[in-house]
Amino acid sequence: MANHLHKHFGELEVLKGVSLEVPEGSVTSIIGASGSGKSTLLRCMNLLERPDQGELAIADEAIRFDRNPQGDIIGLDRRQLQRLRGKVTMVFQQFNLWPHLTVLGNVIEAPMRVKKLSRKRATALGEHYLERVGMADRRDAYPAFLSGGQQQRVAIARALAMEPRLLLFDEPTSALDPERVNEVLGVIRGLADEGRTMLLVTHEMHFAREVSDQLVYLDQGQIACSGTPEDVFADPRCRQFMAPAA
Ligand code: ADP
Ligand code: MG
Repeated sequence: MANHLHKHFGELEVLKGVSLEVPEGSVTSIIGASGSGKSTLLRCMNLLERPDQGELAIADEAIRFDRNPQGDIIGLDRRQLQRLRGKVTMVFQQFNLWPHLTVLGNVIEAPMRVKKLSRKRATALGEHYLERVGMADRRDAYPAFLSGGQQQRVAIARALAMEPRLLLFDEPTSALDPERVNEVLGVIRGLADEGRTMLLVTHEMHFAREVSDQLVYLDQGQIACSGTPEDVFADPRCRQFMAPAA
């Protein structure tokens, strides 16, 4: 899935060779201190950031990133990048809905533009996933008229409407009022129960323990500890990392 990924921002090495396997149909949660590289890892997996080095494989698509001796990134096939992008979608902390589009408009935009679906087909798909997150009755509303929890549920429907092979969540409840957190966690839990392949960055330790098949602790751009939640919490070496987060 991710193999020896490296990412620098100038002199700062943010990912120092991260390797991560997210088996099909399973949920992996990434935890770690602020600044440890969690968002950068997710953004690399989604190709919002381009890794400097390493390999990404999503479903049947694999891409290697490398540099020549001059430091230029080499060996990238643009069409392959596009195909890989179509297999991964992300839900952001700040929802990032388009304010000028309705709820339904937000959900059908990428299927129409990226996947070239007709408006009719995209709408059917969009309505299906809005139903799935309990937002079908607000399909004609604009984001500004929705609560944070409702906006995040629309953002999840938007991610699902691309029918990705991998769903990424970057702290999906961190921007929500406390009373809105559970409605979003409930949707994510339902997706986990359905067997969706998901990679989740979260500070909700209780939730992460409950829904994850695998927990990964990222420390300064390296995986310090990983395993099943049971193993990770039972291992004294891991627990020393988990303690501040738990
Ligand atoms: P986390 O999500 O774990 O809090 P990030 O991946 O956001 O961590 O950031 C890891 C480090 O990389 C931080 O030191 C951050 O300042 C730096 N960083 C992230 N994005 C950029 C960027 N676009 N340009 C420069 N530095 C960045
Ligand atoms: Mg982050």
